[in-house]
Amino acid sequence: MTQIDTIANRAGASLSPDERAAVDSVPTGLYIGGQWRTTARTLPVTDPATGQVLCEVADAAPADGLAALDAAAAAQADWARTPPRERSEILMRAHRLLLDDADRLGLIATLEMGKPLAEARGEIAYAAEFFRWFAEEAVRLDGGYMTAPAGGSRFLVARQPVGPSLLITPWNFPMAMGTRKIGPALAAGCTCVVKPAEQTPLCTLALADILERAGVPAGVVNVVTTSDPGALMTPMILDERSRKLSFTGSTAVGKKLLEQCARTVMRTSMELGGNAPFLVFDDADLDAAVDGAMAAKMRNIGQACTAANRIFVQRGVLDEFARRLAARMGELPMGRGTEPGVVVGPLIDADAVAKVTGLVADARSRGARVLLGGEPVEGPGNFYPATVLVDVPDEAEMCHTEIFGPVASLTPFDTEEEVVSRANDTPYGLVGYVYTESLRRGLRVCEALETGMVGLNQGVVSNPAAPFGGVKESGLGREGGLTGIDEFLETKYIGVQL
Ligand code: NAP
Repeated sequence: MTQIDTIANRAGASLSPDERAAVDSVPTGLYIGGQWRTTARTLPVTDPATGQVLCEVADAAPADGLAALDAAAAAQADWARTPPRERSEILMRAHRLLLDDADRLGLIATLEMGKPLAEARGEIAYAAEFFRWFAEEAVRLDGGYMTAPAGGSRFLVARQPVGPSLLITPWNFPMAMGTRKIGPALAAGCTCVVKPAEQTPLCTLALADILERAGVPAGVVNVVTTSDPGALMTPMILDERSRKLSFTGSTAVGKKLLEQCARTVMRTSMELGGNAPFLVFDDADLDAAVDGAMAAKMRNIGQACTAANRIFVQRGVLDEFARRLAARMGELPMGRGTEPGVVVGPLIDADAVAKVTGLVADARSRGARVLLGGEPVEGPGNFYPATVLVDVPDEAEMCHTEIFGPVASLTPFDTEEEVVSRANDTPYGLVGYVYTESLRRGLRVCEALETGMVGLNQGVVSNPAAPFGGVKESGLGREGGLTGIDEFLETKYIGVQL
């Protein structure tokens, strides 16, 4: 398959019977208190590969949001009292239902978001794993009992659900970002209102249906979709019954939400933007480094917070690394994510294409050389080709903003000290990647990088069993891992006089 063929094929594409059936299987209302509600207004969901409207879903007004919060608040006490084993078993059933339905759900994710089908199915498996992980954690909430240092009284330490939680998710991992929040919230005994991204509501609506089938009681999970997130969420955030906001999205929106949360001193978890450095030292296994760069750059067509945004290569191996990376990226078929073999699907919307186009033009104007791609593709659909740029100077805009597209930005470095300093020269601190065969250097650099996560000789760090999150302006808190459930728990100390 050539890129030309696949692009020609998508013009005038209409939904196949399987695709139509998958879209039509998703409820399109608001899910509030265990009921599906329609709204006066609706909003369109579009296939980014073709521009075709897939369906219309409910467009919630602020009163709908407050109704969802009413439902979550009403269900909170019973859900907190539900035995952990029961909560766990519901999540386990949801895990199984997601896996059994991965073909349909993957297709839905591809249609609304654009990622290739194989990746979308992978996301469903990843998403399901959060339910299994937190089902296992639900029954292991620990506490404490100790004697006061001065004797006499005893300290009891209990863990309690924080309470009704607001969960806001982005479009780039429409299923996994939902389960990564709903899993620990439910395991901890919290009810929730989930607001998915406007561009990708279908995965979360399908998930609400699955959770109901798994046995989640009415009101425990509520889903609201909207074209006006600020108007919908602000009254809910300011409402004192909301006790937690867990947000994944851009740093700019995260900062605004933090200000709102300050009004009621609401607990927050913030999974925000990144600007990941990817370091290749001259002693690295270059095959492994190229594999890692492919994974870290091309996952989700480059639209991941963990995407390798700045690839630093030690000068002696730069040409060889760049040549191999360009050869690999040049082989990737581009097209609609539903077509077999496609790796480079569309970007989420026309603005994303314009942003990537502008960043590449800016880098070129500052002296970057184009080894592959570099020119936007004509529509329909929001396509940008796999692109490799070399000698991108640190002043280029793409070194300071998330590229969020299939553009590898390479730059040389000379010394370890220099590259660590340049890698850390950003307000972001989500993840970094280091390729070297030296264990000493590898650990030294991992410790020196100002990020919440590092991949040492590996290009993907996401794992439900690992603590995912960033430092600096990349966020607050961790999702997944042994501490993920803590985000939804309060610690209560009870002093007992014997
Ligand atoms: P975004 O524009 O910040 O949107 C994220 C979510 O916030 C969406 O549901 C959005 O709704 C909602 N939102 C926007 N304005 C809001 C407001 N005033 N009040 C309440 N909610 C509001 O980010 P995005 O473009 O969807 O996602 C990409 C960003 O997410 C990137 O920066 C990426 O790095 C980051 N991300 C981070 C992680 C992580 O774990 N650190 C993971 C994935 C993505 P609408 O869709 O209706 O605008």
